Amino acid sequence: NKFEELGLNSSILKAVEDMGFESPSEVQEKAIPILLQDDTDMVALAQTGTGKTAAFGFPLIQKINADQRHTQALILSPTRELCLQITNEIKNYSKYEKSLHAVAIYGGASITDQARQIERGAQIIVATPGRMQDMINRKLVDISRIEYCVLDEADEMLNMGFYEDITAILSHTPKEKYTWLFSATMPKEVATIAKKFMRSPVEVTV
Ligand code: AMP
Repeated sequence: NKFEELGLNSSILKAVEDMGFESPSEVQEKAIPILLQDDTDMVALAQTGTGKTAAFGFPLIQKINADQRHTQALILSPTRELCLQITNEIKNYSKYEKSLHAVAIYGGASITDQARQIERGAQIIVATPGRMQDMINRKLVDISRIEYCVLDEADEMLNMGFYEDITAILSHTPKEKYTWLFSATMPKEVATIAKKFMRSPVEVTV
């Protein structure tokens, strides 16, 4: 089983086996060992369907300290559907990490319910930029101690006009953190974000 060679812990390997994944996809093979071993920023060029969610999800789950309740990772994604999909995948991958909790934050649903879920303790928040910014403004969420930030489908988020929200959200995160940017394409706007918010990112292309 090639997943065992990537450096993943036994609880993730068990979950992978339950999911029936036989071998890592290309982006997983390239990104996971780097993200597990090195504390580094990363820019990964990968389309949807390449297994990119696990490529950042496995390392996040392994690196987060589930014994601490505060929010340690923020994943920004363009749509509610993607947000829910990522949250579900993370829940599946972390099913043997009982104290790890991921919460989905998106517009068009009760902000009070979402705030309550965060209050119960969410080490990982998966959010759309608009609702996230709203919750920050209302002080319903604290991302001042996050260690990892994932910008998923960065090109899509910028296409949808989330540049201002993203920069505002990132201004509430610590300077000392690691940012992993995933994008299907690398237009000028994405390169600008990478340049502005990342420090010598490792580049992965599939
Ligand atoms: P993604 O590109 O992250 O949206 O993943 C696409 C789909 O592939 C999801 O349904 C995953 O559960 C599935 N998947 C991810 N990694 C693997 C793998 N190594 N083997 C088989 N399926 C996978």
